[in-house]
Amino acid sequence: VRRLCVVLGDQLDADSALFDGFDPARDAILMTEAAEEATYVPQHRKRLVLFFAAMRHFAEAQRAEGRRVLYRRLDDGAPQTLADSLRAAVDEHAPERVEVVLPGDWRVLEALKAAAPEIVIREDRHFLTTPEQWADMRRDRRRFILEDFYRAQRRRTGWLMEDGEPLGGEWNFDKANRRSFGRDGPGLVPRRPHSAPDDVTNDVIRMVEKRFPDAPGSTQGFAEPVTRRQALVHLRAFVEDRLPLYGDYQDAIAQGQPTLWHARISAAMNLKLISPREACEAAMEAHRAGRAPLNAVEGFVRQILGWREFTRGVYWTLMPDYAGRNELGADADLPAFFWTGETEMACLRDSVGQVLREGYAHHIQRLMVMGLFLMLWGARPKAAHDWHMGMYLDAVDWVSLPNMAGMSQHADGGVMGTKPYCASGAYIDRMSDCCSGCRYDPKQATGEKACPFTTLYWDFLDRHESRFRSNMRMKMQLSNLRRKSDADRRAIRKAAEGVRGRPG
Ligand code: SF4
Repeated sequence: VRRLCVVLGDQLDADSALFDGFDPARDAILMTEAAEEATYVPQHRKRLVLFFAAMRHFAEAQRAEGRRVLYRRLDDGAPQTLADSLRAAVDEHAPERVEVVLPGDWRVLEALKAAAPEIVIREDRHFLTTPEQWADMRRDRRRFILEDFYRAQRRRTGWLMEDGEPLGGEWNFDKANRRSFGRDGPGLVPRRPHSAPDDVTNDVIRMVEKRFPDAPGSTQGFAEPVTRRQALVHLRAFVEDRLPLYGDYQDAIAQGQPTLWHARISAAMNLKLISPREACEAAMEAHRAGRAPLNAVEGFVRQILGWREFTRGVYWTLMPDYAGRNELGADADLPAFFWTGETEMACLRDSVGQVLREGYAHHIQRLMVMGLFLMLWGARPKAAHDWHMGMYLDAVDWVSLPNMAGMSQHADGGVMGTKPYCASGAYIDRMSDCCSGCRYDPKQATGEKACPFTTLYWDFLDRHESRFRSNMRMKMQLSNLRRKSDADRRAIRKAAEGVRGRPG
């Protein structure tokens, strides 16, 4: 073998730099279903199915192109780790060069470099920003926050720009994007495409059931896109059916409705089955054709061109130290109901139950229900991140760590967000239909019916008052805290202890 090209489970990109100048007569692809990758944190069964099924389909597609694929199946005794697999392939095939696209996980990068020190790391062209562009944008800036990055990205790409100014005269339209469904609920929600498992995927489902009987979640009803063709069907359905209202209801929650008007293409995109460029271009085209309003399209483009690329830049700029950050000194374990969904809190029962069923939650459930609760609870950021990594179909370290530990748990002290995303039950009441059927009352912080979010919210502010004193964006919340009497604050602390002592 001349070149041995290592393709990882989240690098299923047919346009990858690895395939430049690929010579089918002399080069080979190495793909491995490593048990370690499936078990280093407990992982949802649908997530395991997604990765392995997408890998097998990708390998098939590569073979159909006439390329040689050394594919190590878990059920055929694949090496335990990616590093073991690489070492064995190097011993057996003595390649002149070993190449890989930059992995999405620092841990994997280090393991591959240890297994093959001469490995060539190629750029991941899937992304819209190169490390050099990221460094250029940061240079000479004292402050580099998401908003600055996003505006620079818009200027650089010219997306949603007109004569050097943002289209529509505003950089974002979030004020229009905070509608909730009110008493009538969301009404008829467009159906998401169903990607029925084929024989390859059914084989993987059987393997996962057999090999990982203790993994959380279930494989039942698996209908995720595992090929590029299926992923494109999902992208088109989103742009046609859901994008028009995506902006309006971006922050709304409705019980029993996992998708609403969200794109739900993050898993396919993070596996690289579709590219961020084609997703943004499809949305912008819908706007040009008058099929989607600007507030929706800008919101969608911002998630990808702004937030997603910023997240990756933060990861690669600040790793490996970033993984150990714990700015708030949080040290609690996750509440047990994060593994069962068994809690009397209606909002968490719905969101966690949905994650256990589907391996998915939309961003506001992640950030303002589950993530919020864990931050108020004081969960260790690493425990929160590990749970997020294992339970979501779309989680890859480069995005999960800054998202869950950094942004949602504020463990990075302000890199991903300049203030913690802290709120009481009143926020959930405003944005969802959960509270009316809950045994708790979102307005109450103490007493029999006190909403645990509200109790823990005041307790969180009380515990971190001095830390956030100089944060202007926390001014209002802290001045509300200061209006509470000493007796109220003591009662809240006691109530918070009670919440932490309860099983759910
Ligand atoms: Fe959640 Fe509190 Fe509302 Fe119950 S009352 S659904 S716990 S926010």
